[in-house]
Amino acid sequence: MTPNTLHLTKAHYFEEKRRIVLEFSNNKEKRTKSFPLFPSFFLEKKMPLRELSSILSNYNPQKFKVREKSNAFQVTASTFKDLKCLANLCLEAFGQRPSLIEPERQFLLERDWSYFDSFCFFQGEPVKSNKDAFPDTRIESIAETLPETIKQLLTQNRKTAHSFIQSMALSRILKLPVESIPGNSFLQLETLLENIFFKNNSALPKNNRETISSETSKSPKCFGMIEMDFSQLWPLLLTRPFYNLGFDSIDCGCCKPSSVFERNILPSSTVVGSFLSEAFYFESIMPGYAEEFHSKSFLKENRARLKKEFYLNYIPVGPFHRKQKAELFLCDALNLCKKRKLELMDEAKLHWFCLKRESFLSAELRKMNHYVVSLSKRLAEEEKNALQKYRLLANNILSENLDFLFKKLLHQTAKQLYCSIPLHLTNPKSSFFSKELANSIEAIKASTLQRFSELLEKRNGRMIHAEKAVAFIKTTEPMSLAKEFSEREKIPLLISPIKKPRH
Ligand SMILES: [Zn+2]
Repeated sequence: MTPNTLHLTKAHYFEEKRRIVLEFSNNKEKRTKSFPLFPSFFLEKKMPLRELSSILSNYNPQKFKVREKSNAFQVTASTFKDLKCLANLCLEAFGQRPSLIEPERQFLLERDWSYFDSFCFFQGEPVKSNKDAFPDTRIESIAETLPETIKQLLTQNRKTAHSFIQSMALSRILKLPVESIPGNSFLQLETLLENIFFKNNSALPKNNRETISSETSKSPKCFGMIEMDFSQLWPLLLTRPFYNLGFDSIDCGCCKPSSVFERNILPSSTVVGSFLSEAFYFESIMPGYAEEFHSKSFLKENRARLKKEFYLNYIPVGPFHRKQKAELFLCDALNLCKKRKLELMDEAKLHWFCLKRESFLSAELRKMNHYVVSLSKRLAEEEKNALQKYRLLANNILSENLDFLFKKLLHQTAKQLYCSIPLHLTNPKSSFFSKELANSIEAIKASTLQRFSELLEKRNGRMIHAEKAVAFIKTTEPMSLAKEFSEREKIPLLISPIKKPRH
């Protein structure tokens, strides 16, 4: 580390001065620097700009400005207190409170700076350097430097030391001070999405809570079962060049498809089909839909009996009589057509993704993926070098190396958040929940798992159950199966058997 590297250790907003004061420090010096800040929030463009301005004018018009951005209206206030009052006015007028981000985080998001980032001062101005070194600095109330404190902790209690480094990693990723990191992953993901929306000048999506998602079934116990991990595949499939899902790319105005067979069609589209068999039941690839159908349709007892009699691990959809018409998810309908059990009618409610403009969600997910992959390459490189240099002692030496540990926990934390985003977006409790997006994520996951299961059967295996990001399967060759699947689907090899710790 160069001696004049400093780390961003603190940020504080001074309301009366309308400024943010940042503290940069290392183990020898401390510098502060202040910047002007006028905080903002974003609102959906549901009404004309003039109407919004007149509603907000009930508040002192000299204390705010409204600007039109491509995705939303931006309301910027003189102080954070003014911004809160304006947010309350929006709540009264539109029934939805805009997402309010504390001024310190707004400032960091605008600059793309973060706690523990390294900086050099050039002509009195801080310049960020892209290093992931462990910050050699001090924290208040502790006599030793941060590295000395963690090194001591490592010898006394490894777990506590690791969880401290992990909160530093979270602080850096979420742009929150260590003491404000939310304790559970749900809130951490909400913060991450808040940041993504703010950075991309976007308002919260319309909250349409009705969803087909369901993850209620329990995983069956079965001897010799292998757990295949799909968690890294789901976020990748959301992005370009695969599906380009996002709040601003689904059902865009520019790429409306004319048939269900076009490239940008989403499997969450619905079509009307006419059944070709009598007293017909089928297995939907969307378990959430099957459960909803079961709870809302007549002849519940028939479906329950069928499930019990045939030891089915799903609830069948039906019964349908010959020539009966029904609205089905496209992914299910196409399956039934293939088996000559259904004929498609002309009626459809299509959903699609934009082929021209990448959604901000896709762009941010790709950026996160790139970060995770490059960190993992650097870690592998460092492990390789250590092995060459120290041989048997390599692991011991690396486990004491704070730079290595910091990078390792940054990698772990970023990867975990990245992999959890698709599941989080299907959770109706999230403020970022949107029905169209959630349904398309569910349908893409379901149809991918369906194709995986078909391949598995061809290779004499069997899919027993799938939930969240794990498929429980029976096969003798999980790795060659994963390879074959990724080749067929033209996707990187991202699925793999989960290694179970030995007891
Ligand atoms: Zn488009």
